[in-house]
Amino acid sequence: MNIYQCDQCEYASVSNKYRCPSCGTGKLQEQDISTKGTVYSYTDIHIAPAEFAHLAPYTVALIQLDASKAKVTVRMDAVVEIGDTAELHHIEDGAYIYRKC
Ligand SMILES: [Zn+2]
Repeated sequence: MNIYQCDQCEYASVSNKYRCPSCGTGKLQEQDISTKGTVYSYTDIHIAPAEFAHLAPYTVALIQLDASKAKVTVRMDAVVEIGDTAELHHIEDGAYIYRKC
């Protein structure tokens, strides 16, 4: 997984931006890091947007990556609890699908 880490501060993001939105001066450097992380929070989606309606109900989780300060929003393939460890299983239609590990 590619993470964009600021060269001036601790800001990190999974999406590239021209300039660091945190300190305003740093440039974001692309880094390829481990996808492993910990469930920081999650939400069960019962009523999904039309494009994801066929998937409902499903769980969207915010994963705190082990190797970065960045958090990523992912779809879980199973029920999770806060504090569970998870890793990337595959990418589907541009969405990160994580599973517990
Ligand atoms: Zn910065």
